[in-house]
Amino acid sequence: MINKQSQLDKIKADILNDNVCPELAKTATQLVFGSGNPDADIVFIGEAPGKKEDEQGEPFVGSSGQFLNDMLQSIHLNRNQIYITNIVKYRPPNNRDPLPEEKNEFLPYLERQLNVINPLLIVTLGRHSTNVFLPGLSISQIHGQPKRKDGRVYLPLYHPAAALYNGSLRKTLELDFKNINKTLQLIREGK
Ligand code: URA
Repeated sequence: MINKQSQLDKIKADILNDNVCPELAKTATQLVFGSGNPDADIVFIGEAPGKKEDEQGEPFVGSSGQFLNDMLQSIHLNRNQIYITNIVKYRPPNNRDPLPEEKNEFLPYLERQLNVINPLLIVTLGRHSTNVFLPGLSISQIHGQPKRKDGRVYLPLYHPAAALYNGSLRKTLELDFKNINKTLQLIREGK
């Protein structure tokens, strides 16, 4: 049995070898593949790397990452206990929204990442990430509600960057975050 980290390393190498999104690769500093614990029970999925992530090669290391760390701490979790990645793994120029074709190109690799880690719960951050897995549903209507689909459980949350400077969204996100442990508990109990 090959360990999870080496399987993840292979997926990362495949993204580079397969020349995924060459235009984005040209303008980005580096691939931001994912970080954290490959044995995690929870995987968080964001949208795409921003400036800091592009510089450091790690997801969520800028201001929204700091906010995410604070919320994780509030539910007694830290970054070593979770795995975190993005839909699109190169920074889009000027932080524009990722294009549908860019999300599609990265999706098979993201699926492979999820299949290797095989978490109990997938937390989608923001509408891009949510709609890749739960198309047609509005984040404003389903945030904080666990959704079962194809043998997986998703918990859609607002994106920390959107909530950071918006008082009411921020409160909502902080409240929704408290559903993470509750949802995990229910999954572990087989409910
Ligand atoms: N926003 C994201 O969606 N992902 C990151 O890695 C950083 C900011």
